[in-house]
Amino acid sequence: MSRSEQLAKNNLVQESMAKKLKPEIKYKKVLLKISGEALMGDKGYGIDPVVVHSIANEIKIVTEMGVKMGVVVGGGNIFRGVQQSANFGMDQADADYVGMIATVMNCLVLQGILKKAGVQTRVQTAIAMDRVAEPYIRLRATRHMEKGRVVIFGAGTGNPFFSTDTTAALRAAEINAELLLMAKNKIEGIYSEDPKIDSNAIKYDRLTYDQVIQKDLKVMDTSAVSLCKNNKIPIVVFNFDNPRNIEKILLGESVGTFVGGE
Ligand code: UDP
Repeated sequence: MSRSEQLAKNNLVQESMAKKLKPEIKYKKVLLKISGEALMGDKGYGIDPVVVHSIANEIKIVTEMGVKMGVVVGGGNIFRGVQQSANFGMDQADADYVGMIATVMNCLVLQGILKKAGVQTRVQTAIAMDRVAEPYIRLRATRHMEKGRVVIFGAGTGNPFFSTDTTAALRAAEINAELLLMAKNKIEGIYSEDPKIDSNAIKYDRLTYDQVIQKDLKVMDTSAVSLCKNNKIPIVVFNFDNPRNIEKILLGESVGTFVGGE
């Protein structure tokens, strides 16, 4: 064998060894839902910078793995339509628009921090705000993702009486995501009862869409679960407080609660 043939053979062996060592990524395009409550951390209101930095760090790790990611951010840390319409004595629809605009504030903070971390992002909003964000255009969003940019979807669906959980399921279906990641703050997954109230609550490792709906597990809206069911998008509910949880999930490890078909 000539020296060049020997070198080529060595390269092939090295490449196949590198492939064996590199773990296989199970989900290559995902939608991450971060609730406003999660962004709040231990504070009673607003955004905890430590929490946003840790989320940004997780997102950075995922993008460096080559995984395409869309993010839907909630707004409950600032304004929730149902509660605040009652408090203020206003129509829920009016309050819901405030709630949707609140989500955009969260999106812009996340974008600012991701930018500093060197992650390319675009914010797209369902309510036009062209000084600060692009309007939501599905094909443009998928194009950004193909280029490795993280697209952060703000202002929910743009319609009152919906939630950002439903938005997450909707955008996941629209971008053909292979998985919906529901990030929770200090909750390991889906439980039989609220684990913060009932210490006997049992954590589920795996559930079907129908079980979540029938048991009325309240971890996310029924409409969001139905949308995922109809579009065959699995959901993982997990605690993002544990570093590298997202990475583990993307590599197929069992983390949190998996929701899928039979
Ligand atoms: N909202 C809405 N339509 C949507 C998404 C959100 O009207 O498509 C409003 C609604 O008032 C909601 C608020 O925005 O209470 C914040 O969203 P959400 O409560 O889902 O945020 P999270 O609970 O995830 O923080």
